[in-house]
Formats: sequence, structure tokens, C-alpha cells
Amino acid sequence: MSLEGFEVAVVGAGPAGSAAALTLAREGVQVLLVERGTFPGSKNVFGGRIYSYALKRLLGDQWKDAPVERFIRKEGITFMTVDSSFSIEYEAKDPKGSFTAVRAKFDKWLAEQAEKVGASLITDSRVDDLIIEGGRVKGIIAGQDKIPTDAVIACDGTTTSLARKAGLASILEPEEVSMGMKDVIELPADKIEERFGLEPEEGAAHVFVGECSGGLRGGGFLYTNKDSLALGMVVGADDASTKAIPSHTVMDRLRNHRKVKRFIRDGKTIEYDAHMIPEAGPKMLTRPYTGGMLVAGDAAGHLLNNGYTFRGVDMAIVSGVAAAQTILEARKRKDYSAQSLKAYERKLKEEPALKDMFVFSKVPRYLRNHRLYSVYPELICNAAEAIYRVDGNGKRKIYKELRAQTKGKVSTISLIRDLLAGARTF
Ligand SMILES: Cc1cc2nc3c(=O)[nH]c(=O)nc-3n(C[C@H](O)[C@H](O)[C@H](O)COP(=O)(O)OP(=O)(O)OC[C@H]3O[C@@H](n4cnc5c(N)ncnc54)[C@H](O)[C@@H]3O)c2cc1C
Repeated sequence: MSLEGFEVAVVGAGPAGSAAALTLAREGVQVLLVERGTFPGSKNVFGGRIYSYALKRLLGDQWKDAPVERFIRKEGITFMTVDSSFSIEYEAKDPKGSFTAVRAKFDKWLAEQAEKVGASLITDSRVDDLIIEGGRVKGIIAGQDKIPTDAVIACDGTTTSLARKAGLASILEPEEVSMGMKDVIELPADKIEERFGLEPEEGAAHVFVGECSGGLRGGGFLYTNKDSLALGMVVGADDASTKAIPSHTVMDRLRNHRKVKRFIRDGKTIEYDAHMIPEAGPKMLTRPYTGGMLVAGDAAGHLLNNGYTFRGVDMAIVSGVAAAQTILEARKRKDYSAQSLKAYERKLKEEPALKDMFVFSKVPRYLRNHRLYSVYPELICNAAEAIYRVDGNGKRKIYKELRAQTKGKVSTISLIRDLLAGARTF
């Protein structure tokens, strides 16, 4: 393939990159989508659930062809101590709102949709540098190839080297990232449906808080695919390094907990992956644009993990589209200067889905409260134990029992403060 004549280079064929390339190609822009993996998705790790709305907006009815594993019918959260657990489950009216997927299939498919409308994809090609002239990004450098373009969209993920090279980001501090780890466990479809109480094609998403993280900021997740489970942990990188807790030990805590063991019994682990997750939000970059370049998806901190919903892929798709739309407007003006591309920042703030990142901007700070991962899960489980236990030794009223459980663990003031802060944050 000739690498000349491209107007825009999109770096990274994850959800952000493919959505950006598709949006541009559909409008007749000559766009080159560059991926370092052997195919899109070959290097990508995630928990497993994608919110459908972003794909519907991008593709209309065609989204129904996406490689869906299972539509999520059941949502659950479990608070756990070493030997007890307390779970809440919600059954969605309409499971089509989100689905589980395997990234090696999903990213490949999404990149194919971009190719179908005219984007040119090259794989096995790592972008090492940017062509910068007169303070403006004028293209990309991949190995020996210098590829001049009018504009670049960097969708190269959490550890984005391109945003750094353009002077938009510094090296991420440990408190700005989390570490995600995941097992893929093979299990026959009928066993999954039986264990999770699901109909065929329906799925479950479950999160775990407490004992599994060993006091570290973070928690576990479990998603059901067609005939496998995605079981994993996300923990604060700063916490894991200062407390010197090796990541595999938190995975062991999760795998070996009675609640989880029952779900994964007789399953065969066929894959283990780990990946960084940006936690700082959009402030990860000084700004998501510079002359000739925009940054989208994880590379720009466009992700929202508020503990019960994890939104990276939908945010990446929406921000990739916003970046592409900004380029389309700049193309009409024939002006790719920083001043012209500044419109991207306004778009990000106005776009309803991405606005959620700003609405919930205090979440990362709230989630730094360690009581959420140790004291409160224990309180919840102990209170349930006290409420349900009947041993003939006399029982207290529920309110009195709850008060007794908090004694010595958390002061009433801290408890009220945490509750109020939670109400204001979520
Ligand atoms: C353990 C874990 C669980 C998660 N769970 C969920 C979940 O359940 N739901 C959800 O929505 N999100 C989840 N996420 C987050 C989600 O995976 C990301 O937010 C999403 O993938 C971001 O998409 P992206 O396109 O911005 O970046 P990525 O998906 O990271 O894609 C970046 C692409 O760029 C390529 N690339 C990087 N550098 C270069 C280069 N120099 N040259 C060429 N190519 C390059 C990479 O190979 C990759 O294909 C999870 C993440 C982790 C780690």
C-alpha cells in the first residue's frame, strides 16, 4: 500500500481509533488507520462489557452485526469478607443496553467497518514518532516510513507516547493509573446459564468489593461471555506498589473466595492478561489538542470507572467520533491550527455521554477512601450476619445492631461524612 496522499492518520485501532477513522472515511476523507498489533484487538485487554448506545449512534442498525457474546440481563455487586458475602442483584428490563464482548473479535470487526467505508488499515506497524514542523504536527513516523498528513488523531491508549511527544502529557504518576488483571476461564454455555440463572444469550455482570482487594483501593469483576468467564481485578497502582502487594495475590484472593469459586468451578483458565487503566480523567492531559493533532479515548483519559459501571469503550467510541467531527470542521476551513482544533474541547464538554466524565469528576477522589474497601464491606457482611442469625441468645433491633457493628470500626462522624460525600459524588 502506498503511504502517500493521506489527509489524516489515526494511530491505534482500538474503539476510539476505529470510530474516528470510520467517521472520517464516511465523509470521503483519505484516512490511514495504523495499528501496532498483528490485527486490531490482538493486544487489547478489558473486562468485558460494552454499552450499546455508542455503537448504535456510530452505525445505526448495523450495530446489530457486532460480535456480541451475551446481552447483560443481570447486574450484581457483592461485598465480601474472608468467609462471608452480601450480594445485591438487579435484573434489567431490557438486556440490549449493554453486552459482553471479546476484544480480539470486537476491535477487529469495528476496524473492518471503518475499512468498508474507505479507511486504509495497516497493522503490525508501530508509530514511533510525530513529524513536527514549526510547532505543528504534520504527520507520523512508523519505522522507516515518514507519512505526512494534514492531521493526526492519537488513539494509542493509556500509556500514549504520542500525546507525550506532542508535549500534552507527562509520564503518568502511579496514583493516576490502575492495574487491571484478567483471567479468561472456559466454561460450557449451559453451565454459565445454570450458575448465573440466565436464559441462552443472556449475560451477567458482577463486581466484588472487600476481601478480594486485600485492603487495596479497587475491586473485582466477573462477566459472562458465550462459553467463557472474564474474571479480574482492578487495583490502584500507587496502592499496590506502596503496600508491596504482588498483583497475583489479589487475583488469588478473588479466585479462592467461596462466592467466586462456585461460579468458576471446573472452568479452565485459557488466558491471563494485565493492562493499565487511566484514572485521572481528562486532566491527564494539559489539553487534548495541539496544532495538527487531537487525542481521543484512553490516551486522553476519556474513561469513567465509578465502581459499579466501567465505561471505557463507549467513551472511547464517542470521543473518537468527536475528534473526527472536529477534523471534518477544520478540513472545511482548511485550518488545522491549535486555535481551530480547540473546538474539540468544547465538543467533549457538550457531548452528553462524555459530559458524564465531568459530572462524576469527583468520583476518583471519593474512591480513594480506604474504608470503602475494608471497613464498609466488613460492616455490611457483619450486619447481615447479625440480622439473619438466630441462635437463641436474644436479638437486638436492626438499628441497634447496625450501631453496634460500627463501634470501634468507624466513628459516627466519619460514617455520616462518607455517606454525604457519596450522595454528593454519585
Ligand atoms: C482489566 C480492564 C478491564 C476493563 N473493563 C472494561 C469494561 O468492562 N468496559 C469498558 O467499557 N471498558 C473497560 N476497560 C477500559 C477499556 O478497555 C478502554 O477504556 C478502551 O479500550 C479504550 O479504548 P481506546 O481505543 O482509547 O484504547 P485501546 O483499546 O487501548 O486501543 C489503543 C490501540 O492503540 C494501539 N497502539 C498503541 N500505541 C500504538 C502505536 N505507537 N502505534 C500503533 N498502534 C498503537 C494498541 O495496540 C491498541 O490497539 C477495561 C480496561 C481494563 C484494563
